[in-house]
Amino acid sequence: MTKPLGRQVLAGAVIAALLAVSGTVFAQDEPQRVCSYETVTIRSDFSGGRVNGCEQLSDTHFRLTIAPEDQPPINPSPWYAFKVTSDKAQSISVDLVYIYSKHRYWPKKSRDSKQWARLDGGNVSIKEDGSATLTIEVDEEPLFVAGQEILPYEFHTTWAKKMAERHDLNFVKLGSSRQHIPIYKLETKGSAEAGNYVFIVGRQHPPEVTGALALVPFAETLFAETPLAQKFRAKYGIIIVPALNPDGVENGHWRHGMGSKDLNRDWGPFTQPETQLMRDELARFKADEKLWLFLDFHSTAPNILYTQTDDEVTNPPHFAANWTKAVKARVKNYAFERAPRPVSDRPTSKNYVYTTYGAPAITYEVGDETDRKAIKDAAVVFAEEMMRLLLDAKAE
Ligand SMILES: [Zn+2]
Repeated sequence: MTKPLGRQVLAGAVIAALLAVSGTVFAQDEPQRVCSYETVTIRSDFSGGRVNGCEQLSDTHFRLTIAPEDQPPINPSPWYAFKVTSDKAQSISVDLVYIYSKHRYWPKKSRDSKQWARLDGGNVSIKEDGSATLTIEVDEEPLFVAGQEILPYEFHTTWAKKMAERHDLNFVKLGSSRQHIPIYKLETKGSAEAGNYVFIVGRQHPPEVTGALALVPFAETLFAETPLAQKFRAKYGIIIVPALNPDGVENGHWRHGMGSKDLNRDWGPFTQPETQLMRDELARFKADEKLWLFLDFHSTAPNILYTQTDDEVTNPPHFAANWTKAVKARVKNYAFERAPRPVSDRPTSKNYVYTTYGAPAITYEVGDETDRKAIKDAAVVFAEEMMRLLLDAKAE
């Protein structure tokens, strides 16, 4: 079943909770996307927007209710994103009250939704009850406020198209999301020797923007006209699906696609159109072609790589341990750990790809609040060391 854009499934209990905290009545299946008051307007009717309800507490004090797209269980990734305009320049307070979760993402602000800055510490007050109060300066120009930089789905497709043109790559529609948004892959053209590939996927979880902020420079390093990257691309093909959950991204979801499922718990059941595309695309590695490495970009509190354990044989062997060591020797301002996790019956991309194809399958997690330049710098080093190790593996 396809849900119309913005439709939210909220059960009676949730509505009761929303009403209890907000005191405002609003349609139970439709978030309040435009909240207009005497001087202030708060909107979330844009790609990635998320506010479920608004209430005015005084001339300059507003309370926003932030709720997930589905009932629990749902990961505590309480995404919020809104823009404020005001008829006059003034300072306002905005309470963020979360349903099913507590404040997590430090607020970021932007005038154009492209250049972003963190709100100053003095303008953010996090309460014991899990809510947060932000103090923001508003005027006639829109001010965006969100849990992370807002990267709408278009960001990913625009970037991928640009990469395809600049580096002569294939830009191919794999299929569509549940809400009929096209999902694309980028793929190098047939110069790689005999079908050897690395496969990269991102944005399964909509609020995990820092993972996307790593995927982009990582990929650009692989496609660059450097001797290392040119040598690498002569030996290996590269397949990248930069954003697998367009519906979640566009609708400002905390976690799920439009099928009320966590896509990274569906690699095995494959009940969702998005994960089915991955299953079918990877099936090429059951025939003549070979998968050497699979990377899935995400975000969490720390910078961390979830990998196979040392006892789990991968081909190439010990890739994760060697990669971690090589990168640690080079990066200075990006603390990270490798966390080996044995295969479990949890249907994640990592478990599915490793058990099905035997390649190292690594979840590349970037901290929610990691310095943005450090994310980029580290991703370049990760990409370079990955290329060196895989070239060495081919030489052996
Ligand atoms: Zn994730």
